[in-house]
Amino acid sequence: MGILIPLMDIKRQQEKLKNELDEAIKRVMMCGEFIAGQENQRFEEKMQQATSTKYAIGVNSGTDALILSLKAAGIGPGDEVITTPYTFFATVEAILQVGARPVFVDIDPSSYLMEVSQLEAAVTSKTKAIIPVHLFGLPVNLAEIRRLSELYDLVVIQDSCQAAGATFQGRPVETWGDLSCLSFYPTKNLGGCGDGGMILTNNAAYAKTIRLLKTHGTYKKYHHSAVGYNSRLDEIQAAILSVKLDHLKTWNAERQRNAQQFIRELAGLPLQLPPQFNDREHVYHLFVVKTERAEALKAYLQKYGIGTGIYYPLALHQQKALENQQSHIVLPQAEAVAGQTIAFPIFPELTDNEKAYIVDKVREFFSH
Ligand SMILES: *Cc1c(COP(=O)(O)O)cnc(C)c1O
Repeated sequence: MGILIPLMDIKRQQEKLKNELDEAIKRVMMCGEFIAGQENQRFEEKMQQATSTKYAIGVNSGTDALILSLKAAGIGPGDEVITTPYTFFATVEAILQVGARPVFVDIDPSSYLMEVSQLEAAVTSKTKAIIPVHLFGLPVNLAEIRRLSELYDLVVIQDSCQAAGATFQGRPVETWGDLSCLSFYPTKNLGGCGDGGMILTNNAAYAKTIRLLKTHGTYKKYHHSAVGYNSRLDEIQAAILSVKLDHLKTWNAERQRNAQQFIRELAGLPLQLPPQFNDREHVYHLFVVKTERAEALKAYLQKYGIGTGIYYPLALHQQKALENQQSHIVLPQAEAVAGQTIAFPIFPELTDNEKAYIVDKVREFFSH
């Protein structure tokens, strides 16, 4: 067996935290309270503190966090929501699930983020909200998003699923918009041992609506004032995530250190490295580089035991599921970038030897 470096390796994290996690899981098992108990309360309080927000509401997934946020903001049929075509499918899926129409603005080809300078031109009388996505862990220019949202009276729902712990101008990204959505999918920067998600907001009315909707619109046991969902964070996940949250800052710092090393050591190769900003903190959910030879590079690294991923092979308007409504749209930058952006392993537990090996093999690929 040769060297094997997966793109993501959750097992290493689990092993390091084994005792703490065992203890947390045992506590919930013995307590017997598996839904909406003390663990959720404790984790929500910790998340409020960590993100400097007033309300943290645990839900079933990042996708549900987006859907419930849109619902709480009253968005539905006839409304338009502006977002990026270069993100995980769930961002646009949530907009479509509430019956609204997604409007894509093209991306900035150096950061792969929504091109904020094109936002204003996409606003119509039907626009109700913007969903900026902090893709790969890099925050969008939230000052500009905020300026425009105030100008046009739009709700800002941040898709922070890839950006747990990220900051913009020194403040948690969560403090910049109306609502912020996190995913605790296992491979995310703060990942549970199963599905999970959270909405963070300072708006009491939104928080109240989301709490109602996530439990079947229940205002009193077996009394329902709205048609809602079953979207709760399990107690076991909340207990696990409480343990992991204490390590998030360290893990993100390790991701950043790994990224800086790659940026230094891959300089000069014919690939586009991640952009660097002074006004925001990239938490490197993924370390993504762009090359026309992404597929060949992926195959080459695979041969040497290095796992990579192409994020994303298609822009969202090119997806089959959107064929009927978005096929006429042309977004040249997103289309050009799709299929060329490849992620290398960047997880916190990556060893010095592994990093050196990855750099070697990438350099070797470009030498022939
Ligand atoms: C992971 C992710 C989601 C969805 O989160 P789930 O918890 O898997 O539902 C949404 N948006 C982005 C950008 C993501 O990366």
